[in-house]
Amino acid sequence: MTAKILNGKTIAAQLRQTIKQQVQANIEQDIRPPGLAVILVGDDPASQIYVRNKRKACADIGILSKTFDLPTTTSQAELLKLLDKLNTDKEIDGILVQLPLPDHIDSNLVIERIVPDKDVDGFHPYNVGRLVLRMPLLRSCTPKGIMTMLEQTGIDLVGLDAVIIGQSNIVGRPMALELLAARCTITVCHSKTRNLKIKVQNADIVVVAIGQAEFVTGDWIKEGAIVIDVGMNRLESGKLVGDVEFATVSQRASWITPVPGGVGPMTIASLLENTWLAFQKHI
Ligand code: NAP
Repeated sequence: MTAKILNGKTIAAQLRQTIKQQVQANIEQDIRPPGLAVILVGDDPASQIYVRNKRKACADIGILSKTFDLPTTTSQAELLKLLDKLNTDKEIDGILVQLPLPDHIDSNLVIERIVPDKDVDGFHPYNVGRLVLRMPLLRSCTPKGIMTMLEQTGIDLVGLDAVIIGQSNIVGRPMALELLAARCTITVCHSKTRNLKIKVQNADIVVVAIGQAEFVTGDWIKEGAIVIDVGMNRLESGKLVGDVEFATVSQRASWITPVPGGVGPMTIASLLENTWLAFQKHI
């Protein structure tokens, strides 16, 4: 079997176009554009690229993005003060603090300081709790983008066995909740999981989010499984690869996401969708 490609770039472009048309229609009626505050603390090169892409995506579709590039020396108190200001800013519908933060700042405290209705990353305990209770509002962007891609396959997910490798707060855990809500049977694996390969070999859906280049190879994959590769790893050669060995896994899977051009663009498209949703609650 040669897998069909789940082209995140194309799906994301369609989503962006839809939001752009809605934003433009509002502007023609003198309704303000949605506003997103994007905060970067420090000079981590990968974070700088992510933030630049998010700001560009906003500009392309008419979302107002306010930029806050803060030095590494920014204190936690200063960051919290900025969040308090943005929480009550009437032009701002969404607040994004790029992670990871410098070690002297408590990320959990920062995430909790954002008012839940502006938490467009979907990381606030309130929004995660809503997903747990099957009452989602603002959903974590990467898992949300993956669910949008899975819908595009046209495959009925009900009853499928899903294995998620990785249990982070931003990918693995909310991914498990999304797939559970879609009525899959889920297994969440991590670095202490025993017999990982056997678990993966029994899965109809495999989501890999561990940050290890080409970790999962074709012999791990059940014939016809759907494989979602969240990983983004830069090889010494400069090439960007996922957590999945594309050449061998694509020989056994029915659907696969490429890296780049799979989950990454969908994460940004979901952020824009969340900003649009938050905006609609504010006007
Ligand atoms: P993370 O916070 O570092 O979590 C990694 C998870 O993988 C942990 O749960 C860890 O287990 C598990 N793990 C590590 N090695 C393992 C192994 N050998 N076997 C089984 N489990 C293992 O990472 P993250 O933030 O979720 O990100 C994961 C990857 O996705 C990274 O490459 C990141 O760049 C990428 N990412 C991409 C997007 C996108 O939009 N495309 C978005 C977010 C992240 P323990 O919990 O036991 O330590």
